[in-house]
Parts: sequence; structure tokens; C-alpha cells
Amino acid sequence: MPDQPNLFVSQHPAVLHKLALMRDERTDPKKFRELVREISWLVGYEALADTPLNEIEVQTPLEVTTGHQLAERIGLVPILRAGLGMVDAFLELFPESQVWHLGLFRDERTLRPVEYYNKLPDQTTVDTCLILDPMLATGGSATAAIEVLKDWGAKRIKMVNLIAAPEGVAAVAEAHPDVAMYCAALDRQLNEKGYIQPGLGDAGDRQFGTGL
Ligand code: URA
Repeated sequence: MPDQPNLFVSQHPAVLHKLALMRDERTDPKKFRELVREISWLVGYEALADTPLNEIEVQTPLEVTTGHQLAERIGLVPILRAGLGMVDAFLELFPESQVWHLGLFRDERTLRPVEYYNKLPDQTTVDTCLILDPMLATGGSATAAIEVLKDWGAKRIKMVNLIAAPEGVAAVAEAHPDVAMYCAALDRQLNEKGYIQPGLGDAGDRQFGTGL
């Protein structure tokens, strides 16, 4: 795919090592959930590297020094249900974050997103929103979620995925060139059912043991 200036794909060895374990079909749901959390932490660490800070004074037992605190309110927006497994890692990174769930499912016939859960208040309560979804496939849910958050008034929006497909990256970049995308891997393509290849299968089923 052509260079996407908004796309950041982690090259960290810890991410690559964990990614192979997560893709492996023999990985059971417990281990899979652990890997989702660990990779989310690592990709999240990179995605949050440019978070604005304010300087503050801190009194240590010895003297006063300069410290930092977040200058922005952060909203985590997991896309139900697969995004749930990414939330804890981000709450460890930034414990004061607000968590706003968005329920979007994919109509299997049209592959278009349908919104079924959204409890956002009328006025925005955050500055930066991080959309959490393990898989960026067609980009349908991602662009729908971004539109919801822009209408809500979020100043800055970032996508955080574990695996992205070129088709999804292109769709988000075209519809929302202001949104940065962070992921652990950019895979080859989507198949005719909208699954990412080589991918890892259904990220929700693999986390929650429902792929029977
Ligand atoms: N959602 C998934 O869980 N997996 C894919 O491969 C694509 C979308």
C-alpha cells in the first residue's frame, strides 16, 4: 500500500514476539486475553508518547522539583465487544482516563457498521479520544466511531488497533486524514468475508471463547 503518514506500525521486538503467539490458532482464550492486554500496553505506550503535559511543582522529601501532569482529559472508547480487552492496559497507562463504550456491530451481509450502544453525554467531557479495537478491517466501524466522536466534540482522535488491514487504513485515512492510527501489525488483505489475512480470526471470539 502507498505510504500512509498517519499510520504507525510498531516494530518493537516485544510486540512482534507477542503478536506471533496471539495469531497462533492454538493459543487459548486465557492466554489470548493476556496477549491482547500486553500488546495493547506496548502499542498504547507508543500511541500516547506525544500526550501534552503541564509542569507542576513536586515536593520530594529533600527539595522542591519540577514534575509533570497530563494537560488533557483522555477518553478511551472501546468498540464493543472486542475492544474491551484493550481497556485495562490503557487504564494502567493513564488511570484517570474516562471510558466511553461504543457498540457497533458489523452487518454480515453489507459489512456496514450498525450502532447499538452509545451513552455519550451531549457535551464532550474529554479532549483526546483513543478508539480501541483490536482489528481495523474494512474501516467501516472505525470511520463510524470517528464520526460519532467528532460530532461529540473531541478535539483529537487516535485509532489504536492490534492488527490493521490496508483496506481499513486507506478508508480511515481518506475519510479522516486528521486521525492517527497505531497498530502492532499491518497485514496483507481482507478476505471476501471481511476477515484480515493472515490475521488472527475473530478477535472477540478468541478473547471470550465463543468461536465454537
Ligand atoms: N474482526 C475480527 O475480529 N477479525 C477480523 O479479521 C476482522 C474483523
